[in-house]
Amino acid sequence: MPMYDARCPSCGSVVEVFRRMADCMDMPTCACGEQMVRVFTAPMITPDIQPYKAVAIDARTGELPVIGSRRAHNEFLKRNDYCVAETSSKPRSIRGDFDLKKDLISATKQVLGK
Ligand SMILES: [Zn+2]
Repeated sequence: MPMYDARCPSCGSVVEVFRRMADCMDMPTCACGEQMVRVFTAPMITPDIQPYKAVAIDARTGELPVIGSRRAHNEFLKRNDYCVAETSSKPRSIRGDFDLKKDLISATKQVLGK
């Protein structure tokens, strides 16, 4: 549901309200008793993404595609039933008494029955 800003023409108070688009002009009454009016703001515009080579195969071509736009990115994800896994840009240390590489190899062999 979209969010709109409402301003009181009397005291200047501004509040955010959630409304269905059909009810976008239905603004609340201010605490001072005045009918609030909707504040019109410019839509948020963000630049398109930079082209990148996907790290997952496109089922349509069997290859790693170069994605050139946000729309192509979304279509690629939807077409292949993929989702985005967010990763932290800050490397985190993993503490523990284990050898990650050795454990992964061991677990893989176990799964493969070798
Ligand atoms: Zn008011």
